[in-house]
Amino acid sequence: MEEYDIVIIGGGPAGLTAGIYAARAGKKVLVLEGRALGGQIVNAPDVRNYPGTPSISGVDLSMNMYKQVLEHGGEVKFERAMGIKDKIVHTDGGEYKAKAIILATGAENRKLGLYGEDKLVGKGVSYCATCDGNFYKDKTVAVVGGGNTALEDAIYLADICKKVYLIHRREEFRGDKTTVDKIKALKNVEMILSANVKEILGEEKVEGLELEIKDGERKEVKVDGVFFAIGYEPQANEFADSVELDEQGYIKTKDGVHTSTEGIYVAGDARAKDLKQLVTAASDGAIAATVAVKEME
Ligand SMILES: Cc1cc2nc3c(=O)[nH]c(=O)nc-3n(C[C@H](O)[C@H](O)[C@H](O)COP(=O)(O)OP(=O)(O)OC[C@H]3O[C@@H](n4cnc5c(N)ncnc54)[C@H](O)[C@@H]3O)c2cc1C
Repeated sequence: MEEYDIVIIGGGPAGLTAGIYAARAGKKVLVLEGRALGGQIVNAPDVRNYPGTPSISGVDLSMNMYKQVLEHGGEVKFERAMGIKDKIVHTDGGEYKAKAIILATGAENRKLGLYGEDKLVGKGVSYCATCDGNFYKDKTVAVVGGGNTALEDAIYLADICKKVYLIHRREEFRGDKTTVDKIKALKNVEMILSANVKEILGEEKVEGLELEIKDGERKEVKVDGVFFAIGYEPQANEFADSVELDEQGYIKTKDGVHTSTEGIYVAGDARAKDLKQLVTAASDGAIAATVAVKEME
């Protein structure tokens, strides 16, 4: 069985950054990626908020991070980790013994599963107002959701866009009342309640939404973009036997780095946090690797 100082599970921005830091600290490092190197960011055609890179595609940014891991002596294998037992990571391709393990398995945006939803990501469909809001300056957009993320997205977008529809399937929001009151005071936000999105209109780019409102009635709204804020799905179930997860499936951590199990650390969107972005994922990866290196010495 191959042995490493640090095995990092997940080759998104958090895992790759952890790989760069751990390899630069002189450790024998393996990054395991089970699907697509770069994680969620490969779906972003134009990243504009990563410091030092005014505009770059998510794919190019991921490839740069990947090359940096290799340049510093880290290894990357395209295998899915299936579980951890006694510091041995079991994958669909082998077994790797590690002194320390970093879980950087990320999260996925929950989707509505509508026709055209996947095809129109980056062409009007977005899951991240902080990432893409600026592309809709003075345009009309919709936010779909009823929790705090949807409410905060609507407030954020109201500052940038001409008009924001806030569409929620229930009559009441799950988010804070103070935030709801704040939105009610915004002149360019229109709430559409008890409404379900049935269709995304537009073939090449988003042109509108077809909604089902009360009593099965249909209503069409014209929008240039739609932001779905209906939650995240953390990708940590395979490790539920090794570390504690919270009720939503995120990896529990008291300080943002340590999990409930000694020698297993967490980085990136796999842990619950307020801002799920590249910069925070990279920061988490750097911290987790540095702490892991320090604690193994
Ligand atoms: C469409 C889109 C656009 C975005 N645009 C921006 C933007 O412009 N700016 C910005 O700052 N942020 C943006 N984000 C958010 C940003 O991409 C995420 O916050 C960031 O990618 C989180 O990094 P991560 O490494 O923690 O997780 P992820 O990116 O989710 O990566 C986790 C990786 O782990 C792998 N993995 C999971 N389980 C296993 C396993 N068992 N074995 C092996 N591998 C596994 C996954 O395949 C994945 O590659 C965007 C997100 C999306 C979806």
